Amino acid sequence: MTGRFAPTPSGRMHIGNMVAMLAAWLDSRSRGRRMLLRIEDIDTPRVLPDADRWIMDDLTWLGMDWDGEPVYQSQRLDLYEQAMGLLPREAGSASAGTASDADSAADNGGWLYPCFCSRADIRAASAPQEGDGFQIYPGTCRALALANPHQSADRAAQGQRHSWRLAMPSPANTAADTVNFTDRVFGPQTYRLSRGIGDSIIRRSDGLFSYQFVVTVDDLAMGVDSIVRGRDLLRSTALQAWIRTTLVANGFAVDAGQSADQDVAQSTGQHAGGTADMDANPAATSSLIAPPSSTPTPLAPEYAHIPLIDNAAGRRLAKRERSLDMGALRARGVTAEQVTGVCAHLLGLIDTPEPCTPASLLGEFSWELLRRNHTDRKLDPASPQCPDWLADAVG
Ligand code: GLU
Repeated sequence: MTGRFAPTPSGRMHIGNMVAMLAAWLDSRSRGRRMLLRIEDIDTPRVLPDADRWIMDDLTWLGMDWDGEPVYQSQRLDLYEQAMGLLPREAGSASAGTASDADSAADNGGWLYPCFCSRADIRAASAPQEGDGFQIYPGTCRALALANPHQSADRAAQGQRHSWRLAMPSPANTAADTVNFTDRVFGPQTYRLSRGIGDSIIRRSDGLFSYQFVVTVDDLAMGVDSIVRGRDLLRSTALQAWIRTTLVANGFAVDAGQSADQDVAQSTGQHAGGTADMDANPAATSSLIAPPSSTPTPLAPEYAHIPLIDNAAGRRLAKRERSLDMGALRARGVTAEQVTGVCAHLLGLIDTPEPCTPASLLGEFSWELLRRNHTDRKLDPASPQCPDWLADAVG
């Protein structure tokens, strides 16, 4: 079983990032699981040089470890390219929907189409964006691709600027359109893909693959089956479940990433049948499309989404808030144990933010207290429990 750290190297980690990292590490290590580190540097304009090294240094300083070499998304473009190549580009050829006979003639999603809309076009045609960044795409270019697939394909082939979107199931296909999962902190979740998520970008018009796509490809390919992250990504989980469904339905092999990245080769052994089949048939590792008998169906990962941490003014902590980043705290002489104590307290693991180490929390770790109270946390310098160093940094 495998967990992961998946930081974006867009700046120095702050306390909120460290709370999520601590939860992910405790979840994996308390159950004796593997822990991988994936540097999510796919969105190159947002990447800060050296931020990957700071992340690794801060994790190590705090006492959290990982297995194998870090995986960099920027070095896995071939894998993403191949994975995208598996997805059909015509409505009729998609195999991800679980349509009943009556629905089989309908468009059941799971196919890609070029989207020529600008942001302004989409804004003008959509409901306002929701708090977690989702804007439901109004379907303009899906309608074009369905009504006139040749025109749509020709415009893309002629170089007209376009992104690639993944079609969601039709709302009439309730089974495929509904995503259910039980979050270990937030409990049962239900999303309708068509109305709650909308057709989503897989590859942007600047050529970069989207976060939602690469994170799903990577979690599948690396054998990640336990995901711990901020609650702002709850809705993304529904989208990632659909991307995962379409990838697997179109032949994405769970051991595919291993050929692209030998550093995580051991993780294939964690899937039922994975290693045995792979050993018996080495060819299966060299292609994204494994023979059916050697393609173990990957189980859906377990998810734990954790509350966000707000600053004293009630705004979510951001990397630009320098006073709470690990560099600033370390420069002020704050110790690793002091930072860990605050993070553990924010996770509800200890009653007071006493200094401690991640390893000292392993024996007691459970999601129970967080499950009971998963409201966002606020760093309140006026609270009697707030240590002086934190009150100074927040204030
Ligand atoms: N890289 C993302 C972030 O730093 C996390 C992605 C994930 O956990 O799925 O917000």
